[in-house]
Amino acid sequence: MKICRYDDDRLGLVRDGQVFDATAAIGGLEPQGWPQPPGDQFIANLDRLKSRLEEEAGRSAPKPLADVHLRSPVANPTKVIGAPVNYHAHHEESLDDTEINFGREIKTIDEYGLFLKANSALAGQDDGVALRFVDRRNDHEVELALVIGRTCGNVDEANALDYVAGYAIGLDMTVRGPEDRSLRKSVDSYAVLGPWLVTPDDISDPDKLDFEITVNGEVRQKSNTAKLIFSCRKLIAYATQFFTLHPGDVIMTGTPEGVGPVEPGDTMVATVDEVGRMTVKVRAY
Ligand code: MN
Repeated sequence: MKICRYDDDRLGLVRDGQVFDATAAIGGLEPQGWPQPPGDQFIANLDRLKSRLEEEAGRSAPKPLADVHLRSPVANPTKVIGAPVNYHAHHEESLDDTEINFGREIKTIDEYGLFLKANSALAGQDDGVALRFVDRRNDHEVELALVIGRTCGNVDEANALDYVAGYAIGLDMTVRGPEDRSLRKSVDSYAVLGPWLVTPDDISDPDKLDFEITVNGEVRQKSNTAKLIFSCRKLIAYATQFFTLHPGDVIMTGTPEGVGPVEPGDTMVATVDEVGRMTVKVRAY
């Protein structure tokens, strides 16, 4: 099942390039007063809503994907988690390129652990990326993203995928420079998630997916999640040693070699096998 959020917070199912409106399925998830429970309440209720989503979608007239504005499929995560230097080939290019390392020693995820991107950086495919600091290098990082479905802590690696609500493509956009990573990766729109959420029954193995990104038609990054240093399972297990994960929490699993700059006017097309293809335009802020 491919679930999208689009236009004015409508929910849809995506089939054959078309969006079927299933918004009526979330009646009853109205705001719950203050304070809201942690996490995204749609994702928290997704399992129980799946049959209603199918029913509502079956009643609606489809719209072509090109006629809707795709937003981040997750509205309210408590965290957007990043995986620093989680591919060996990206480690090697980071050691070699002073525009990436800025004179810092670069290690791998084994030593860094994880980092956080601000939730306010989340954007969907059709929100695009609004570049700030256009005189500096702003890089694309294409990644497999996973979305947590249930509150969990101290998860075993063996069971870790049981807690996943779905998968999406993540763009961990980054301003290169001397500042702390959490700041450089938290600019508004620098966490693109989309184009939709694909439920785990449609993914054969998240640790064996081909993925790539092109910029203006030129292939920049191309790899397979089998090369992750910390696999999807290990990322979830490791994260829950430090903090509770809540429904809707996003883990961007890390980027392979080939990171490089984008400029206003560029078009990025990111593809993850079994997930889909996401076209994201770059503009100046
Ligand atoms: Mn990254």
